[in-house]
Amino acid sequence: MIGTRTLCTNLQPRASCMTNKSVQVEEIKRAKDGLDVWEDIHRYAALGDYSAIEPDDFERFKWYGIYRQKPKDGYFMCRIKIPGGALTAPRLREIGTICNLYGRGIGDVTTRQDIQLHWVRIQDVPDLFDRIYNKLGMYQEFSCGDAPRNTTACPLAGEIADEIVDCGPFAQAIADMYRQGGKEFSNLPRKFKSAIGACRIHCYAPQINDVAMFGVERKRPDGQTERGFGLCVGGSLRDTPFFAQSLRVFVPPDLELIKDIFRKVAHIFRDQSSLRQGRLKARLKFYVQEIGWAAFRDQLEDYLGYKLEHDDSIVGPDGAGNDDHVGVGRLRNGLNYVGIPIARGRLTGDQLIRIADLAEKYGQDPRRQINTTIKQNIILLNIRPDQTADLCKELEDLELPVNAHPLRQQLISCTGTQFCNLAIVETKDRAKRILEYLEQKVPMTEPVFISVSGCPNSCAQYQIADIGLQGTLFTYKGVKGVEHYHVLVGGRMGVRPEFGRFICTEDTKKVKVPAELIHLAIERLIRAWQADEAEARGSSANGKGRSFADWANAQDMSRLAELVTIPDDLAATQ
Ligand code: SF4
Repeated sequence: MIGTRTLCTNLQPRASCMTNKSVQVEEIKRAKDGLDVWEDIHRYAALGDYSAIEPDDFERFKWYGIYRQKPKDGYFMCRIKIPGGALTAPRLREIGTICNLYGRGIGDVTTRQDIQLHWVRIQDVPDLFDRIYNKLGMYQEFSCGDAPRNTTACPLAGEIADEIVDCGPFAQAIADMYRQGGKEFSNLPRKFKSAIGACRIHCYAPQINDVAMFGVERKRPDGQTERGFGLCVGGSLRDTPFFAQSLRVFVPPDLELIKDIFRKVAHIFRDQSSLRQGRLKARLKFYVQEIGWAAFRDQLEDYLGYKLEHDDSIVGPDGAGNDDHVGVGRLRNGLNYVGIPIARGRLTGDQLIRIADLAEKYGQDPRRQINTTIKQNIILLNIRPDQTADLCKELEDLELPVNAHPLRQQLISCTGTQFCNLAIVETKDRAKRILEYLEQKVPMTEPVFISVSGCPNSCAQYQIADIGLQGTLFTYKGVKGVEHYHVLVGGRMGVRPEFGRFICTEDTKKVKVPAELIHLAIERLIRAWQADEAEARGSSANGKGRSFADWANAQDMSRLAELVTIPDDLAATQ
């Protein structure tokens, strides 16, 4: 095998290079595997005593999707793992029931297509697990922890009319492969994210995953069209974001081969012991950056034991947008899908149950009824065209309009201070207030992707949004520690991927907008874009304006800073 990298460049003994947190987590994993905490969870539940839980076991609980929620006083967040986001009506109904029974009636769709509930007590977990494993036939291994996280996918995989390759079962198969591997994957240096899809807009964001396959179509020398996958590795956001790099290979749509490649990329990651020196640098992206994509491809072929087919023309997913198939559209079988925009991913347990009822009432295929999306939305599949309007009417009665303001489709938020121990600012309520204000004030026909993140960790993917918000604290009106946001604009993926730029002042300091004024800053950005493009359309031959990201990336920083700086007289009206 090709050698490993070394992050410690000084001559100190290796342990001294490790951060305290890294030492701690590595020791916890060495002492007992995360997967081995199953019996302990049940033992603690029988005791019904939160204070009896060993501190190290809190860390291991994550391997089954159980996290202490803020303020670590007896309650947990439970992340229900949904490979590819694919659900049936009975499964979603049961998840809604679980949210009502144990989660105070709230369920949040996440950016990895999971559904999270909060307020779970340790004594509730066995019944919750029993429902997930035995009633739903789903599983929780690797929902969190230093392991392969949920495999994400296009929500219409296997169903959408112009899919490059039919990859309906692939995300589930990859997730199952990781689960069956068990301890082969349960002690990675850090989290490991996988995605696969083949829709033409690459809605599943392959470039921000540790490993992803994206659909490609190419012409053979004999003129025939050939369809398969490209492969990219080393993507991730957070404070040092990198897009995944294409390994410039063509992968035929052979599920066994695909699983083997995902498996071996995970093995390469697992085997880089130097990545375990510091949690902040423990992601595959740092290794890929260090050795380069070509050397990584060589190493992957070593691990696989065979050569992949090289194709220098496959440099990344060709075409990308922020769309995640929300709205009404046609499937390959002639039936419709109905994508419901969910305001910042939050639903009540009752809404989840009602959505399941509607999926059952209108859906024509009990095997494929519902899908979550990475934009925190929900799609109902296989709806008869002549019944689509009735379904939309029933959804509207549930306060889930399909034809909502375009911003609702693409506004996402992370958990924030309500439940997250790392959060700096509140996000879910703020996102709702931003949305309600803009829906009322700013008519729009095209969506703009807005992301609200409660800290620099990129759970809401603010670096790839049209408008990304990163929470921080600052002094406002003489009061210290007031919630503010840094603002980024112009993130995008696809053939010309770019991370959003922080809006900065002339002295290159990031602008901080008070949270209570952030809706005004966003309004001013969107209105400036709309005005510029309306003017350009008036004089343009083809009448087509720029996307928000294209517009934002063409603006001087001074103009952007002026737009998000709210004048005192306007601020006084709030
Ligand atoms: Fe928590 Fe930060 Fe992630 Fe938001 S981005 S969920 S605040 S860690």
